[in-house]
Parts: sequence; C-alpha cells; structure tokens
Amino acid sequence: MGSAGDDVVAGVDYPADFGQFQDWFSTDEACFEYLAHLRWPDGFACPRCAGLDAWATASGLWMCRNCGRRTSVTSGTLFDRTRTPLRTWFAAVWFVTAQKNGVSALGLQRVLGLRSYETAWAWMHKLRRAMVMPERELLGGTVEVDESYIGGISRGKTGRSTDKVPVMSAAENLGRNRIGRIRMEPTTPESLPLVKFAQRVIVAGSVIKTDGAQELRRLGNLGFQHKFYTQLGSSTPAHIDLPAVHMVASQLKRWMLGTMHYGASSDHFGYYLDEFTFRFNRRAANSRGLLFYRLLHQAVRTEPRPLNELVSSENNKYLK
Ligand SMILES: [Zn+2]
Repeated sequence: MGSAGDDVVAGVDYPADFGQFQDWFSTDEACFEYLAHLRWPDGFACPRCAGLDAWATASGLWMCRNCGRRTSVTSGTLFDRTRTPLRTWFAAVWFVTAQKNGVSALGLQRVLGLRSYETAWAWMHKLRRAMVMPERELLGGTVEVDESYIGGISRGKTGRSTDKVPVMSAAENLGRNRIGRIRMEPTTPESLPLVKFAQRVIVAGSVIKTDGAQELRRLGNLGFQHKFYTQLGSSTPAHIDLPAVHMVASQLKRWMLGTMHYGASSDHFGYYLDEFTFRFNRRAANSRGLLFYRLLHQAVRTEPRPLNELVSSENNKYLK
C-alpha cells in the first residue's frame, strides 16, 4: 500500500541527480503526475464511486470518467491549496534534501528567490512537519536512552535570552561503534518523561541501556530488558557506557550551530529535532534523490498545515 520500501530505484522512481530532476519536473503537469503516483501507487480510485478510470485535467485535478467527481492530487496533503506552482515546491524539497546538513530559511529564500523571509520560514516548517511520520516504526534491538541539554534555544517567540533545553534521545546501538536509527523529543513536563518516551519509541522486548537513575529501573517491569550504569563508584564516564546517545547529542549540538538554527525558538524546537532525526536516520542514503523521494512521499501523507497553525502554539504537538 504505497510503502516507502527500499525497492525504489534511482532514475526510475526518483531523479538520480540534479540534471534529471530538471528534466523530469520542467512543468507543473509533470509534478502533479509524479505526486499522483506517490499518492495513489496502485492507481487512482474515485473517492465517490471507486471508479478506476479518470482524466487528468490541468492543475492537478483527476476527473472520474464514471461519475464526474473531481479530485485534487494535492487536497488533504501538505500542498493543499498552495498558490505556489508545484515546480517551486519541488525545487524547495530538492534543495532541502540535497544539502547534507540542511538549510536555513534564509538559504531557502535566496535559492528560490522568494520575496519574503516569512514565506521561506513557513515552507521550512511545513516540510519539517513531513519529516517524521506519526506512525513511524519503533526502535528495537539494543537501544540507549538518555537526556541531554542543548544550548542556544530562545524561550518563546520574543525571548532574547537563550537557554539550555532538555532533550530525550534514543539511539539503536548496533555494536562496534555503529549507530542505527534514532528518535529525539524535547523533554515533556509529565512525570517519568524518559520512561514514557521509551515506551513510545521502542518496541517491547528490546534491551534498553540507561544511566542508573532510580526512576528508570521500572523499565525492567514494562516489557523491556533494562541494563543501567551507575555513576556511583564507577570510573567510566557516561559517554563510554552510553556511546550512541552521546554521539548523537553532540552531533545535534553541532548541527544546531552549523545550520543557523542557533537561537531557534523553544516553541519550534521539537520540529528541528524532527528534521535532525529525518536526516540522521537517512544519513547512509547514498543518493540525495532518494531523500527527495522520501520527503515527497511523506508530504502527500501529511495533513495540510496552514500558516497560522505553524506560527501559533495551537496544534503544536510539542507544546501540549
Ligand atoms: Zn467516480
């Protein structure tokens, strides 16, 4: 059912390089067709009569030959009601995914020649909403869980002062210094946040490694095998006992500094973590075109995000 499996092929399912990207997506019609293929991989089916036969009209409308119902390929997706040509959106997605370490809103504004910084900012935030899917797969195997503090985050929209913000990280340790997938979230104000985070992101039966904090020991009674390291009387510092999460946290710190996210508002910090996670979990993808494909694939499965919602704290899943 349209899974983003690993069976997609460069040059067939996604453009292999920038030249091919330009060839494939030189018109809005081509972009609509590509989106339709991502959205309806088994072919279009009319939402009213389930008819399979349709005309593709201009501007991304599919008209059912049986009942005449028109369905927009972008409705109900991240690109719902956009007034910007899809070609420009595609260029934004290509640019955002082609830069290994990501881009700032200012960088996006410059490359696309957008008139306002606010538009570029909103686009970046819309795309971040598609970067981690709500039904994402759980981590498994041996997973390290820890909390660390990331500096340089502004409190609220107008806050000048920057602060350190606690972040919960989970990282699969594959052994021999290899790290698998990760999850990150800002620490929540609920009680036992790390325990609940672990339950949200790690599949039961996994081995969880943490420090020796007393409240984490209940993980052993929650369907996990829990191993912990006490600092007391131990001569090994935490980064040796939990190397994967500490490596990930230090990469996150460098990334926040390096892509001009420094000073990011704490209101939006969770979405920066989503972007970091998206990039980290796909760091081994040897084609940037594959990331382009993944992000578009998720964007057509992401609900519309109007600007006022991006700016306000309403519906901000990280401010609940
Ligand atoms: Zn129909």
